[in-house]
Amino acid sequence: AGTIRFEDVHFHYNASRPILKGISFEVPAGRTVAIVGPSGAGKSTLSRLLFRFYDIAQGRITIDGQDIRTATQASLRQAIGMVPQDTVLFNDTIRYNIRYGRWDASDDEIEEAARNAQIDHFIRALPQGYEAEVGERGLKLSGGEKQRVAIARTILKSPPILILDEATSALDSHTEKEIQDALERVSRGRTTLVIAHRLSTVVTADEIIVLDAGTIAERGTHGELLARG
Ligand code: ADP
Ligand code: ADP
Repeated sequence: AGTIRFEDVHFHYNASRPILKGISFEVPAGRTVAIVGPSGAGKSTLSRLLFRFYDIAQGRITIDGQDIRTATQASLRQAIGMVPQDTVLFNDTIRYNIRYGRWDASDDEIEEAARNAQIDHFIRALPQGYEAEVGERGLKLSGGEKQRVAIARTILKSPPILILDEATSALDSHTEKEIQDALERVSRGRTTLVIAHRLSTVVTADEIIVLDAGTIAERGTHGELLARG
């Protein structure tokens, strides 16, 4: 379950300036499609449309054939997990941050998610900033560690659909590789939309869509796009 379809999607924030100009593509259930393109191309906008943050001007977005306009935002948030490019943590323990949205999760489930994201050694710690309020020692998390918290939260939530928004762009190359491996494990078997700046980070996607100024400039596998130059 979880096939996403965009059918001739047009979108603007202001009528005078179209942002997406007739976008059509499909992410078959369980597959990974990457949206690549320069800053301002409309990639984040496109991913936000899946949550129905905004109404589209024309066209249709469906999940498993159902127009998302007939779904509630709450049900879309249940079905879609997002690992954003910059994770903002709640002022509470890492454990709380992982559990967020899955209040029924058992301790074992939380710990397993933390292990899979390789942050089990500090799930009882507090992000830095919180200690000022509670007088406990805080932990300064790096960008990579915050991303791992978001990954653990996503593993625990286990949604059929995943959006990874330029999830490794702010990291050094060693951390980037580790996070990419973790993300690949999480996305296995899930319908995944990856938003990326560079082709080199989405080599394994089933299809890559190159977005430029709100239109699809090119599409194909990594090999096909390289062969075409
Ligand atoms: P990308 O993710 O490819 O960098 P975005 O989807 O963030 O592109 O942005 C596409 C265009 O839409 C940009 O010109 C951006 O300035 C504009 N934009 C993004 N969000 C808003 C908004 N909330 N209101 C108005 N314009 C926006
Ligand atoms: P992201 O790309 O991380 O999703 P944002 O959604 O905050 O970032 O914004 C995307 C781009 O759109 C940024 O370049 C931002 O400056 C621009 N933008 C956001 N909100 C507006 C807005 N109300 N009007 C114009 N541009 C906006």
